[in-house]
Parts: sequence; C-alpha cells; structure tokens
Amino acid sequence: MATADSLQRFTFDKSHVRGELVCLKKTLGDILERQSYPEPVNALLGQLLAAAALLSATVKISGLLTLQVQGNGPVQLLQAETTHDGKLRGIARIDSEKTLTQGNILGEDGRLIITIDPDEGRRYQGIVALEGDNLATSLEGYFRQSEQLATRLWLSCEQGVAAGLLLQELPKLGELQEEMEVDEDAWTRLTHLASTVRDDELLHLDNEQLLHRLYHEEVVRTYDLEPLKFSCSCSKERLAVAMEQMGYEECQEILDEQKKIRADCQFCGQHYSFDQSDINGLFPLQSAKNQVNKLH
Ligand SMILES: [Zn+2]
Repeated sequence: MATADSLQRFTFDKSHVRGELVCLKKTLGDILERQSYPEPVNALLGQLLAAAALLSATVKISGLLTLQVQGNGPVQLLQAETTHDGKLRGIARIDSEKTLTQGNILGEDGRLIITIDPDEGRRYQGIVALEGDNLATSLEGYFRQSEQLATRLWLSCEQGVAAGLLLQELPKLGELQEEMEVDEDAWTRLTHLASTVRDDELLHLDNEQLLHRLYHEEVVRTYDLEPLKFSCSCSKERLAVAMEQMGYEECQEILDEQKKIRADCQFCGQHYSFDQSDINGLFPLQSAKNQVNKLH
C-alpha cells in the first residue's frame, strides 16, 4: 500500500469538484496499540480518524481540528484530533456496563461535534445529530448545515487499516466560470461513480489504482502525498495547567497522601508525576504560606 499514512488531494478537469483520499495504517496501529478497545470500537475510531484527516484538508487554517462523537450507547465518546500538518491522535471511552452490539455502538440521539482551533483567531464549533453508527452520513449532514458545500464521504476501517474518500463541490466563481468550459453534470456523475466503491477497494487499493477503478474515463489530476502520523501533544507543562485549575489545596492533599501526583495521558499513555517541588513551583505563594503555618 504505497499510499498508506498519507492524504492525497485530487481534482477533475473542467469541473468544480475536488476530492481527497486518505489511508491510515501505521498511524492507526500506533494509536490503537496504546489502548485495548474491542474491534468494533477500533473500527469506528479508525473511521473517525480518517474523517478528521479528510476534513482538516478541506479547512485552510493552521491549527487543530477535533471530531468528537458523544453517544449514549456502549461507546460514550470517540475523539479524533489532527493538526494541519498531519499529526493525529484519538481516543474512545466505553461504558463497560453496556454490551456492544453491531450497529448500535453509539446508541441513539448522539451528536457529532466539529471543533476547529486555529493557531490564531477564534475557535469554531459545529454540532450535528448523529445518524446511528454511520459517521459518513452524519458528517455529510454537517456540511449540508454549515458549509453549504455539497460534500460526500466514504469511510471504512477494518483490521488495522482505515481509509476514506471525500468529494466536494466547489463554489462556482462567477466570471471565471464563463471563460471555462465547465461540465455541469460532473457532481452527479462523479459522486455516482464514487458510490460504487467497495470497502475492500477503499482499504486495499493504492490511490492510483483506486482512482483508475472509479474514474478511468475522467481526467483526474493528483497532488503530492501529504504524510500523516500519530503524534501526541501532551507535555508536563500542559498537565501543569490542569493542576493549577485543580487548585493548591487539592494538589497538596493528594501529595500528603501519596507523596506524588501521578497522571497518565489518555491519548498516548505517557506517565507524568508531580512532586512537592513541582507543586511548590506552581503555587509559590500558597506553598510558602503553608510552610510558615507548619513551622508554627
Ligand atoms: Zn500523550
């Protein structure tokens, strides 16, 4: 699979349609090996990660894109994050009291939240109702509601490989359009052809083979592969912010009991620990006061 762990954009000549293909293999393996989710959960998380990569490439900002699925079924939360430069991480939270049944993993009345945190500028958030366990359909609903750009998605994940295909109709640019000979039926035809894609083709053909299989009668232009990989943005400094929010008293209470405050990153499993000197450094005023009190 020559095109694994990358995203590739493509366009069709004489049409206002663009596309993207994504395939995650090592990236997905690196994310899943840190957890031990049941296979159906792995499959949904894989699809969500593929979707995050596809969506991130449609948003032209530098920053973080997060897809969060909140369900009331056996899986309460699925989260996939990607940076504009292709660093992905993801997580699932499972309600162990509920049994996983195929097709009802996320339950009913769930929601899908799309958050974009640009490095500069304001955070954007969109929420859409979840359509059962079908993430692709739910995301199409999001584009219908918010972007008003017709968008179709195909997602698949099986046995350690996740893949996705996205087609999007681009806004027509008034004057330019008149100069160009534009194929007005392209959207209908191209999405119809895409919907003939089978899961095994999406997962196991490389991009060139797949585009040939779907579009051998079209003129497809492909762009450079954009590499994707697992990477976690956690750090002791970031966890320190959470400690500060917890407050001095609570931190000191744990320290008095356990000598250290231990915290593990949910995404990558990295262990962090804070000792007395860390906490003194975070809360210099309170800790100095506490020491004075102890002397008296
Ligand atoms: Zn981490």
